[in-house]
Amino acid sequence: MKALIIGSGIAAVEAALKIRTLQPEAEITLYTREKVLPYRRPALTRMISEKLSDIQFYLHDKQFYDEKNIHILTDCAVVSIDREKKHVMLDDGSLAQYDKLLIATGGKGFMPPIQGIDLPQVVALREWDDLSEISSMLNENIRQVVVIGGGLLGLEIADNLTKKNSDVTVIEACPCMLPKQLDKDGADILVAAMNRNPRVKTLYGVFVSHIEGHNKVEGVLTQKGEHIPCDMVIISAGMSSNFELAHSAGLDVNRAIEADAGMRTSDPDIFAAGDCAAINGKRFGMWNPAREQGAVAGANMCGKDMAFKPKIYGARLVAFGTKLFSVGDIGLGEGPYKQVCRTDEVNLVYRKIFFKDDKACGGILIGDIAAAQRMQNAVEKGFDIKQCEEAEIIC
Ligand SMILES: Cc1cc2nc3c(=O)[nH]c(=O)nc-3n(C[C@H](O)[C@H](O)[C@H](O)COP(=O)(O)OP(=O)(O)OC[C@H]3O[C@@H](n4cnc5c(N)ncnc54)[C@H](O)[C@@H]3O)c2cc1C
Repeated sequence: MKALIIGSGIAAVEAALKIRTLQPEAEITLYTREKVLPYRRPALTRMISEKLSDIQFYLHDKQFYDEKNIHILTDCAVVSIDREKKHVMLDDGSLAQYDKLLIATGGKGFMPPIQGIDLPQVVALREWDDLSEISSMLNENIRQVVVIGGGLLGLEIADNLTKKNSDVTVIEACPCMLPKQLDKDGADILVAAMNRNPRVKTLYGVFVSHIEGHNKVEGVLTQKGEHIPCDMVIISAGMSSNFELAHSAGLDVNRAIEADAGMRTSDPDIFAAGDCAAINGKRFGMWNPAREQGAVAGANMCGKDMAFKPKIYGARLVAFGTKLFSVGDIGLGEGPYKQVCRTDEVNLVYRKIFFKDDKACGGILIGDIAAAQRMQNAVEKGFDIKQCEEAEIIC
């Protein structure tokens, strides 16, 4: 079998490894428009302020792929798919034939349609090149940055910018902090942790009117009329799936490539996995589901019949000298909920677990997240209060 994979993110690599396990003779080729071997995308935020070793950054070294006989072509974008002739065209005009094709093209940072978004110092952090661009601007002595979007990623970016001695203003349209991950009391604890860092200022419930400047970013004007001077703007306003290739090839697409639980698209020889794909309209936009979907796609490209079974995925943040973990339903659905909470306002430690019908359904940890795995397990298994006590999640 000739297996061709577009992209080199975690979904692509997992698929390649699965195919290699199931079909030792398969020809496996990955095409990536990035200039580097597959890496841990979440590490990009940390790398704004820190140098990571190759082992920390890359998923595997070149020797690993050579030994597995997996060909990775970097700096090589796929520009079109011909489904009838079963080949793809690369950016140098050459063609590559496939028996089974996986589209694992991931996503890009959503760029809201505001005036000034095209200025050169406006970036979204998604790929290695974006990190290089941000790093070179920081080296040019840029010291005032606005981050548009105060979700987990925006906060992590802001924290790392302050470690590079930048003053950062985070602007978030939503009136409260991390509403999908935190309740009000948890948000207060996180705000208190952030307030210990004088270089960062957060504006919640604030909409951006436009980015100011002609050839160069000079500031951001909010809809309330506040002018925030800055020389770089980082957009962290969500993810858009890279579905354009699939769309031009006539596959079913709706904000993402439509796939079934086996990661099959509307063409039986083409699969889609990770951030570019949606199953029943649902996109995950997270590392672990992308990895799991990649493995399912790889197996099914080899003729298996595996299904992606979503789990409850916990969210983590490491920033502002604290750590946060949030999992499951944190009281946002239809109640009633019971809650067990422990707060240490002096040391900014917070632990809350939510119960619905007497079963653990969600939880939040701030400051000390040593119980994260146990909390995840309690939520997945629906522990009652006694079981949570025995598992030392409640103490
Ligand atoms: C900065 C950052 C931090 C994150 N932190 C976390 C976190 O802490 N936890 C978490 O769960 N998730 C996190 N995520 C999300 C997570 O990284 C993604 O969900 C995951 O990487 C998606 O993997 P993927 O394989 O679907 O796509 P991607 O990792 O996006 O890989 C897709 C690849 O395809 C390439 N490509 C696209 N089009 C083409 C083409 N036409 N030809 C060739 N190559 C192409 C792209 O260049 C890219 O290299 C973070 C994301 C970012 C950007």
